[in-house]
Amino acid sequence: MFNADTVTRFTTIKTPFYYYNLALLEDTLKLASAAAGKYNYHVHYALKANTNAKVLGLMDKYGFGADCVSGGEVARAIECGFNPDKVVFAGVGKSDDEITLALDNNIFCFNVESVAELQVINELAANAGKTARIALRINPNVNANTHKYITTGLEENKFGINVWELDSVLDLLKTLPNVEFIGLHFHIGSQITDLSVFKNLCLRVNELNQHLASKRITPKIINVGGGLGINYQEPDVQAIPDFEAYFGLFNQFLEVQPGQEVHFELGRALVAQCGSLIARVLYIKNGIKTNFAIVDAGMNNLIRPALYQGIP
Ligand SMILES: *Cc1c(COP(=O)(O)O)cnc(C)c1O
Repeated sequence: MFNADTVTRFTTIKTPFYYYNLALLEDTLKLASAAAGKYNYHVHYALKANTNAKVLGLMDKYGFGADCVSGGEVARAIECGFNPDKVVFAGVGKSDDEITLALDNNIFCFNVESVAELQVINELAANAGKTARIALRINPNVNANTHKYITTGLEENKFGINVWELDSVLDLLKTLPNVEFIGLHFHIGSQITDLSVFKNLCLRVNELNQHLASKRITPKIINVGGGLGINYQEPDVQAIPDFEAYFGLFNQFLEVQPGQEVHFELGRALVAQCGSLIARVLYIKNGIKTNFAIVDAGMNNLIRPALYQGIP
């Protein structure tokens, strides 16, 4: 968060630049980690929200793991100090090189998004003489009620394994000796501000978890992904998201079997408020429908407004 008092300090600094309020970040991480810790929940920070080294250093310091969606992010997380046994790797398009890099580093878990990927991981793990821990990313067909470009949990989306494929994938797993099935993974989208969406996710996860229990399968990990938004309308009014309500809701509605761990992958909710893009107004341009402030930053610095009307 960035306010008028801070502005005067920057009048002589070249723009544009990113400004990080690390004190606010630490306060956010302390509250998130306390709220999650109440229920022994594990939280992995989704690197794609921000990969600044100082930000990553603080995530590690406060005990967060790393959620990566590319080989580059896996390498970055490890380079910035995360223990590989706290690194998870999701994404529909993992290349052989990326999978090998993750295997070489003995990461905690691959969140597998398709049958074809499962077979490739098994083969590459066999070549490396290893067993890869995997969670199956299931597409739960739950609507996140968010912008369509950042909706990931509907059947029409490219992410995850469809529910009706689950049984055949579980059968296939028995024939793949170099992968170890440790969990179910879900991630339905981003910038979710309506918590009832997460309740719907919990109910769906419960059904699948029970279905597995009926087959005497108890995955050790239930990973419900991330997606919690921040207060986009009035960010200054609420600098830190309501983590108590968020984790409390999962505690209320998610039914876990004895011994199961619950994992989360929060990105934006942890860092969005602490970062600002500082730009200078260069020109005021009078338009036909609206007037414009032309600044010295653009889509190359912050793509969110252009891509999905993200509020800057
Ligand atoms: C982007 C992403 C997240 C984090 O999403 P946020 O909306 O930033 O919390 C979590 N898991 C996966 C697999 C992702 O791709």
